[in-house]
Amino acid sequence: LVSRENHPQRSTVHVGGVPIGPETVTLIAGPCAVETPEQTLAAARMAQAAGATLLRGGAYKPRTSPYAFQGLGERGLRILAEVREETGLPVVTEVVDAHDVALVASYADMLQVGTRNAQNFGLLQAVGEAGKPVMLKRGMSATIEEWLMAAEYIAQRGNLDIVLCERGIRTFETATRNTLDVSAVPVAQRLSHLPVIVDPSHSGGRRDLVLPLTRAAVAVGADGVIIDVHPQPELALCDGPQALVDGDLDELATLMRDLPPLLGKS
Ligand code: PEP
Repeated sequence: LVSRENHPQRSTVHVGGVPIGPETVTLIAGPCAVETPEQTLAAARMAQAAGATLLRGGAYKPRTSPYAFQGLGERGLRILAEVREETGLPVVTEVVDAHDVALVASYADMLQVGTRNAQNFGLLQAVGEAGKPVMLKRGMSATIEEWLMAAEYIAQRGNLDIVLCERGIRTFETATRNTLDVSAVPVAQRLSHLPVIVDPSHSGGRRDLVLPLTRAAVAVGADGVIIDVHPQPELALCDGPQALVDGDLDELATLMRDLPPLLGKS
């Protein structure tokens, strides 16, 4: 279902009216985690200033340590809905448990399945039935074939509004949190008709790498990028070191304005 064999034209997925597909490079930005209404609104304003047309923000945070901040749950979803009301930005947010899919879908414009759940087949089937577009991150140790098969689980349940997201894979390298597999973008685009975006924030795990990796993503043909921003990353409850700050926004906005047209995208 997701293969290009029977579907040679590349697809565009619409999220709250915003296209993600071959004609555009869509900027999705916002806080890694929803912490407070003020922090989320401030991050959404930052995202908009950089040209984002979709808001990201996690209300359910799958953390390596069970002692780390796990997200605000439904309270976080309500904050995201309020910020959407305020800014007009449709919301992309993660769901980590099949039992929460209906609840998260009642607030979200797009459901995100994270790297740790990329082969949670029950969750993939549940989001396939939720009636909302899905962003499927690549499993941190998944081959491209495994990633596409995970997408197939969603598609099989009747949902073809799927966006693939390359977010870095585990390698022997320790200088970066993950290794951004830039070649995965054109490879996945050749094998599948689904849009492919890149998460430069979770790939590098470092603020100083976000703009260079964004340039690489756009240059290699990504259909969008998803980027963490935070008004006060030193106080962030999740992944502060990778969040862009106010001072980075001009450069991000310029990059997102100037680079896509060179590649025939808007
Ligand atoms: C996220 O985008 O909030 C996230 C946790 O990403 P990943 O699943 O890629 O680690």
